[in-house]
Amino acid sequence: MSRFFAERYQQMEAYVPGEQPKDMEYIKLNTNESPFPPAPSVVEAVTSEQIEMLRLYPDPTCGGLRAKLASLYGYDPENIFVTNGSDDALNFIFMAYGSKGAIFPDITYGFYKVFAELNGVPYREIPLREDFTIDPAEYMGQDQLILIANPNAPTGMSMDMGAIEDIIRSNSNSIVAIDEAYVDFGGQSCASLVSKYDNLLVVRTYSKSRNMAGGRLGYAMGNVQLIRDLEKLKYSTNPYCINRLTMLLAEATVDADRYYQDCCKEVARTRAWTAQALTELGFQVLPSDANFLFAKAPDIGGGELYIALKARGILVRHFGNPRIADYVRITVGTAQQMERFIEIVKEIVGGGSL
Ligand SMILES: *Cc1c(COP(=O)(O)O)cnc(C)c1O
Repeated sequence: MSRFFAERYQQMEAYVPGEQPKDMEYIKLNTNESPFPPAPSVVEAVTSEQIEMLRLYPDPTCGGLRAKLASLYGYDPENIFVTNGSDDALNFIFMAYGSKGAIFPDITYGFYKVFAELNGVPYREIPLREDFTIDPAEYMGQDQLILIANPNAPTGMSMDMGAIEDIIRSNSNSIVAIDEAYVDFGGQSCASLVSKYDNLLVVRTYSKSRNMAGGRLGYAMGNVQLIRDLEKLKYSTNPYCINRLTMLLAEATVDADRYYQDCCKEVARTRAWTAQALTELGFQVLPSDANFLFAKAPDIGGGELYIALKARGILVRHFGNPRIADYVRITVGTAQQMERFIEIVKEIVGGGSL
């Protein structure tokens, strides 16, 4: 750190992304990317003509894309805020609505804490219950910015929409942001509540269920006034943050919605198979509605399992937080990748002899 760095950032701990090692070829089950490519029509959308167009700035209003996304949900383009990955949307939400403080679960997406610190937002982490569920009662009438990932990460567990609606209703003077990064894999979306509540933001990403983590596209849905607030912050930061090619791919993605629904179904099938196989090997597996499983091995710690898997060419994610240190988070890959994963797990936990 240099002696010039603003004091308010000196103690801040940056988010640590999942590793992307290049030393060998891994089966990569550590960052919840899709094992499938974008739809063929999306791949074909990029032509050399489009690449030549890169000399021009992209449309800062993202008009075409917002119109397409809006029609997908039956909303107006003015209800859609498009960002460079949903992380950007979340950052702007903390920036815009965090002045009275923020609350979120103790075990959830690690970035919320970082955004709170970056934006000088005081925050409180509410412990999940012993079984890793969220207790809605803890979030009632808080009058602070509330962040809930649904399904939650890294547990994969969903909250029911009725409980979320109660939280939204009981915090009518503050914003409730529902992060639906994983909802397409089995959760219940709150998108339909956007027209009902002026304090709700639903945040979505192309990184998981739209097979486009490398394209960087996210969006938030909300009341027109909220979207205007967020647009103001975006226009004060980087109005051109969605590049032309990503915008083009993102529009083609909306048109190929069926393809992505099929990919999500395939992930859900493979998830069920993998969960069953792990359970038979004595693992404790949390019920997941996401594209990953959160699982605890019978006789080996999470950190040890992570290392043993890595040595055998499989990357999963392990978190140091003591409450979940026994667990690893396993992204659901292709059926073939997961068969290989289970074979290797058997070698490690000795389940081959069962
Ligand atoms: C992956 C993820 C995101 C954001 O990802 P982007 O790639 O920035 O869109 C947001 N929230 C949760 C819970 C995630 O797991």
